[in-house]
Amino acid sequence: MKTIIFTLAIALLFSCTKENVLPIPKQVETEYLAFLYHAENYGVKLKSHKLKGFILSGKFAHRPNYQAYYSHHDKIIYVDTTSIAYVFNKECLLFHELGHALLRRSHNEALLENGESASVMNELLPKSYLQNKEYYLDELFTKLDKSY
Ligand SMILES: [Zn+2]
Repeated sequence: MKTIIFTLAIALLFSCTKENVLPIPKQVETEYLAFLYHAENYGVKLKSHKLKGFILSGKFAHRPNYQAYYSHHDKIIYVDTTSIAYVFNKECLLFHELGHALLRRSHNEALLENGESASVMNELLPKSYLQNKEYYLDELFTKLDKSY
């Protein structure tokens, strides 16, 4: 009997982890849907299985310098909702992390002639993202790695 219960427990555990997708939190739903919309407009097929969800929190105790990050290990985007980037450049911050998760983009530290970050995928998020959004969206959705 114990073996049966154990087997059932294992089966249940696996079936749960397989469908362990977190609901999109309301606070980031607009940006998430906008990302999907732009991807479709650019004709980019997203790696949706690479994202299980978002976890919003305050400062990360184990990563105090991070405003947000994507964990390849658990396929979750962690966002510090008290960070300056979240408060003032939220879409850009989330698009950066979604770029890692769904476009498999890595960092691009290139700068424009005026010293501004040339990509949403720069670790220093572009301050002029909203003013030059068309340029940044073009860059984000068309400069995919060859392996994509
Ligand atoms: Zn990054």
